[in-house]
Amino acid sequence: MSGVPLLRPERPRIGSEPAAPAGSRSRGRTAPLRIGMDIGGTKTEAVALDADGAVIATARIRTSPGADGVVDGAERVVAELAALTGTEARGFASVGIGIPGLIDRERGEVRSAYNLGIERLPLADRLSASTGLPVSLDNDVTAATIGAAHLMRLDGIVAYLNLGTGLAAGFVVDGAPLRGGRGVTGEIGHLPLDPLQRPCPCGQRGCLETVASGSALRAYWPAGGDHPGRSLLAAVDAGDAAAAHAFDRLVDGAAACVRLIALSVDPHTVVIGGGLRLLGTRLIEGIRGTLDGWSAQSPFLASLDLAARVQVLPDDSPAAAVGAALA
Ligand SMILES: [Zn+2]
Repeated sequence: MSGVPLLRPERPRIGSEPAAPAGSRSRGRTAPLRIGMDIGGTKTEAVALDADGAVIATARIRTSPGADGVVDGAERVVAELAALTGTEARGFASVGIGIPGLIDRERGEVRSAYNLGIERLPLADRLSASTGLPVSLDNDVTAATIGAAHLMRLDGIVAYLNLGTGLAAGFVVDGAPLRGGRGVTGEIGHLPLDPLQRPCPCGQRGCLETVASGSALRAYWPAGGDHPGRSLLAAVDAGDAAAAHAFDRLVDGAAACVRLIALSVDPHTVVIGGGLRLLGTRLIEGIRGTLDGWSAQSPFLASLDLAARVQVLPDDSPAAAVGAALA
């Protein structure tokens, strides 16, 4: 999630939808609340959902890297949601966590989450032991896909294209996520399709992630620093040729991902999410325009209405946390 303006509030806040004071919500509530958590490289965001899947309260803290930091942060947001909702910590129904890395849902373990400094962590057991709650894990992009489909009320086949530090996709079919046999569903960022053959941390060359991602922007436009998404468009407008090239590559790569997703799973909707979506209308219109340009060359592509399937995850949507709770 590079390119994301850091979300400032260190203190938990009540979620924006329904706006009644948290205390009053605990009265007359019939079913226990579910917690969903999105543990990312910079922040950990958690929500409490009621039985209808509405967000009752939200808590955000900065993520501390390392196994102990991640577990400690998860415990803190559970305690904060308990305080916000007037619920005893053990009174929640469940905790669902979306986290980057390879997820073993059976063991409740996350592996190879390098941007969190985690090699292997039995996160479900550790958080369950300290909170007394049942805990389940999901890949963060899968969780975001579930949450986006729910929050945006999308039916049918929903694909989610995460343009963050990395590049990956998730899929939900009629409300059910595709997790795959080995948990690598949607890792399209590691399709080695770019003729420039730049090396990728995965060991291959020319991966799509080296073209269309926050890490690709950093490589193409080093002047943008660690969070190039924040200043990219201003630099493009100021005539910075490297920034313009990086932006064009991003748009082309993202459009190629939409085409790839459309031709492989034919979703009804492709939701653009991830920190780089905050580049806004110019990114999305760029993607649609590129798809239209390809369609003008190909009656086959034109018949697929690719640009019309693209939607954007709204700003500040807690999709991954909500999806983790629902999963
Ligand atoms: Zn790769």
